[in-house]
Amino acid sequence: MIQGRCPICSKPFAVARVDDLPSFPFCSDRCRLIDLGRWIDESYAIPASPVDQDPDGDDEPRQDADED
Ligand SMILES: [Zn+2]
Repeated sequence: MIQGRCPICSKPFAVARVDDLPSFPFCSDRCRLIDLGRWIDESYAIPASPVDQDPDGDDEPRQDADED
């Protein structure tokens, strides 16, 4: 017997096996998606560090002169 509490809605659940609760450790698919959404929100919250561009700029765009 597996007993737990949904980390999203705090609803307790008890199942014989994890197989009986596909959304484990959440009580339902809905809570599982809510948790997933929170993870995505958190990844969005991480401030994007500006890309350090090489001041020497050896990554300059190619200019094909012989494009006649
Ligand atoms: Zn839940």
